[in-house]
Amino acid sequence: MAITLEMKNISIEFPGVKALDNVDFKTETGEVHALIGANGAGKSTLMKVLSGAYHHFTGEIFLDGEKINIQSPKDAQDYGIQIVYQEVDTALIPYLSVGENIMLNETVNMGKKTFMNWKEVHRKAADILKTMNVDVSTRKLASELTLAEKQMVLIARSLLQECKFLILDEPTAPLSNKETSELFRIVRELKKQNVGVIFISHRLPELFEICDEITVMRNGQFVINEQIAQTSQNKVVEHMLGRKLEDQFPKLNVEIGETVLEVKGLHDTGKIKNMNLEVKAAEIVGLAGLVGAGKTELCKALFGAEKVKSGEIFLRGKKLKINTPYDAVKQGMALVPEERRKEGVLVTETVATNLTAASLKRFSGVFSFLNFKAEKQKAAEVITSLGIKTPSAETKVQNLSGGNQQKVAIGKWLIADADVYVFDEPTKGVDVGAKKDIFELISGLAQRGKAVIYASCELSEIIGITDRVYVIYDGEAVKELDTNSTSEEELLFYSTGGK
Ligand code: ADP
Ligand code: MG
Repeated sequence: MAITLEMKNISIEFPGVKALDNVDFKTETGEVHALIGANGAGKSTLMKVLSGAYHHFTGEIFLDGEKINIQSPKDAQDYGIQIVYQEVDTALIPYLSVGENIMLNETVNMGKKTFMNWKEVHRKAADILKTMNVDVSTRKLASELTLAEKQMVLIARSLLQECKFLILDEPTAPLSNKETSELFRIVRELKKQNVGVIFISHRLPELFEICDEITVMRNGQFVINEQIAQTSQNKVVEHMLGRKLEDQFPKLNVEIGETVLEVKGLHDTGKIKNMNLEVKAAEIVGLAGLVGAGKTELCKALFGAEKVKSGEIFLRGKKLKINTPYDAVKQGMALVPEERRKEGVLVTETVATNLTAASLKRFSGVFSFLNFKAEKQKAAEVITSLGIKTPSAETKVQNLSGGNQQKVAIGKWLIADADVYVFDEPTKGVDVGAKKDIFELISGLAQRGKAVIYASCELSEIIGITDRVYVIYDGEAVKELDTNSTSEEELLFYSTGGK
């Protein structure tokens, strides 16, 4: 018999944000339930309420028709509700083994009472992994695991206690295709064992592959609940956005100008060999290629963040000497890096500080102290013009959703006003609505005559937004193509080493 889990009229506020506004959510055991919505819609917050992370919410939760009171993670776990958070690394102790990590709660709860039977710990952990059909040694250190294996360990830990409902918050975002199918196998296995799985993801095709039912949220509110079999990906996107899905890519008609950036025979100390390319004013040039082709290394090399062994970079015919990112910024280069949380923004600083960080020089007066008023004003302008969803300019970036963090990473360069903009996978982890905003921002830069490099392994985006493409394969630009006369298929052919 299926057990139902129901959340009714759930609301919660944080300073300046109503994160959940009377949300209803209903699911049951033996079902895989997709929870979807744009970045910032409130999905994680709703699931945190359900898993006991907050106690300042209002509304009611029912398990099997009975009202339950969840005020702490322990309460939730006692009712059989488990969650695996997005940041798997913070939930594992790197220098402990797989077995010890799986049994962590048990070992901690023992206190100093007795001594631990380690053999027993490893045996129990191995049993759980075996029921999941996962082949990882319980003696391996957590630090040696792949991301996918780390998730498996966390799922195993959840299953150790009674688990009626398992919440997976964006579990596939960092996984490769192969790792994703491994996770799916486990989700299906859990479903067979009558566990209810709540699955948060932005990747619609995979939700349609694995889920039975879908709930859509928007702006902290419940939008709709449907059976997967009775809806379509397009409909779901329209529910997420609250409007019809128009063409994602802006159509521009700009005259392409003179060559701005020229790269000749660039080699770095690693992947990049003999890279040649040029970018003109008002032109968006794509770097297409699979993960690991060398796109990120190239972007970093152009920005002085990767050591260059030989080769030359010219900006408007003038040879550049770029040894550090500081040199690059001074000479008019901007990079929005792939690892946005590590390199693109300072997550523990405010939105305003991030936005003005790249252009501090411009805001410092004669006596080289900062002109705070000018800085604040400029930050406010950019927040409005980019539609950055934040309670205030003084909110810390870590409290914004992924899409809005990315807008901050881009916004700081808009203020800095560079000549060449390099974007490395700018839409990674960003929902469809914010993607469209980002495409508009980027084509806006081209319209203002900037030279733009757009590196992505999403070939549809390369086709949608660029004017010209270099296919990068094994550290080299192996093919140059006019976007108008190529296709995703052709890009994929050269990306995979086709000749
Ligand atoms: P989602 O998971 O759908 O992307 P979240 O649930 O993370 O969205 O966030 C919903 C909203 O609540 C966002 O506007 C976010 O900035 C805000 N928010 C979430 N957690 C906090 C918090 N601890 N403090 C302040 N604001 C928060
Ligand atoms: Mg989230």
